Amino acid sequence: MTTPVGSIVHGPKASPQALPSIHNLLRLPAVTALVQAHGHTLIAGEARALLEGLRALAVGGTLAGEAVQPAALAQALTERVARRLASNIRPVLNLTGTVVHTNLGRALLPQAALDLITEVMAGPNNLEYDLAAGGRGDRDALVEGLLCELTGAEAATVVNNNAAAVLLTIAALAGGRECIVSRGELVEIGGAFRMPDVMAAAGATLVEVGTTNRTHARDYERAIGERTALLMKVHTSNYVVQGFTAAVDEAELAAIAHARGLPLASDLGAGSLVDLSTWGLPREPLPQEKLAAGCDVVTFSGDKLLGGPQAGLIVGRRDAVERIRRFPMKRALRMGKLPLAALEATLRLYLRPEKLTDTLPTLRLLTRPLARIQAVAEALLPSVQAAVQPRYDVELVALQGQIGSGSLPVDRLPSAGLALSPADAKKKGSGRALDALAAALRALPRPVIGRIADDRLLLDLRCLEEPRLLFEQLSTLQGLLAR
Ligand SMILES: *Cc1c(COP(=O)(O)O)cnc(C)c1O
Repeated sequence: MTTPVGSIVHGPKASPQALPSIHNLLRLPAVTALVQAHGHTLIAGEARALLEGLRALAVGGTLAGEAVQPAALAQALTERVARRLASNIRPVLNLTGTVVHTNLGRALLPQAALDLITEVMAGPNNLEYDLAAGGRGDRDALVEGLLCELTGAEAATVVNNNAAAVLLTIAALAGGRECIVSRGELVEIGGAFRMPDVMAAAGATLVEVGTTNRTHARDYERAIGERTALLMKVHTSNYVVQGFTAAVDEAELAAIAHARGLPLASDLGAGSLVDLSTWGLPREPLPQEKLAAGCDVVTFSGDKLLGGPQAGLIVGRRDAVERIRRFPMKRALRMGKLPLAALEATLRLYLRPEKLTDTLPTLRLLTRPLARIQAVAEALLPSVQAAVQPRYDVELVALQGQIGSGSLPVDRLPSAGLALSPADAKKKGSGRALDALAAALRALPRPVIGRIADDRLLLDLRCLEEPRLLFEQLSTLQGLLAR
């Protein structure tokens, strides 16, 4: 962040007449170089906007004399152009302790996915072209075989995200008729995905059965009638119902549904394809288990525990998946070629499960040894302390992170990091000091996102695989805090 030209209030002021014409501004050597690099349209537009802003200040008598010097004008224009050309979406450092963070882009793409995108997307490819037959193909075919192999499904199709997968599944299988869901599973996922609303949007009538804490087989059986088209289980990904509870599992529910000739769908949310307990992590249900239990359709996300791009995966029995695939809404919800290539590359990593903790960033971060995280914290402590003193104290702390994205909401990941607290924590205004620190961290070239808890700013270092990315910004942080 630089001081905007003209904002200096002291010293001699420039009059509007002291400003150059647009023509003369464009003739400054530094500015002709900008035109050479970026063309006339952008540079002239920005030059005009710069001069207009400065003229307004000059008319108000607040434009500093030095701001109209050619070097200052060229510098101001250069910075304006750089800001216009910088993208809004930027890399940040996720030090929140939540590994799959929805606001920070969820799963990090594996290198294999990035490589495939680069290799395939710059030119034509066989997205919907059957190379064996030499004619039109189906984009689903790129991943269907892999998905079937990995989950044991007969068929698979993919859409834009899991919300779309659920919407499409309900619309295709239960549109205009009734869908039965337990009251304990009417979830709301962040950002307005609420099961009753999705049901309405899909054109199905929601039939709620049971109570918030207990739903029994007989509740489903009684609710099934002439208009029933679908039974549905929804994984309560972001909350738990504890205590006096009862739910009907997929195997029992599948038996009830199939006895009446009805399909059973299961929305898993995160949908890990591998058993996380293999690595000592909390266990999430697997799509392959739900299919084996008798579900006709299982839906899950591509960018949660699967560790790939945004996608909605629909796997299941051939007849059910075919109905979903052929439903007209599918075309509006289909995946783009970029995430589709990334999904294929990500799924292929699962063919080598022993290598996943290296090849899949999500699993690599989730299984990162605590000792290594602690070592990073110890190594960074002195330099972070030096950058934020004397206003803040820094200490090494044990932290509890989470998997994130609504997966396993009550399980915690033991982690380590730094806790920064205002040096005069007892005094009033320490909340403001903490907010100022968080804002300075966010203002860094690669913004650092921590979390505030118990009057401290916590930096969980589980996801900081390259400590230098923080280290190299500490002098900038010091500068920001000194202002
Ligand atoms: C996350 C989630 C969704 C939505 O998935 P997106 O991929 O974010 O669209 C739907 N259902 C459940 C149970 C979820 O956890």
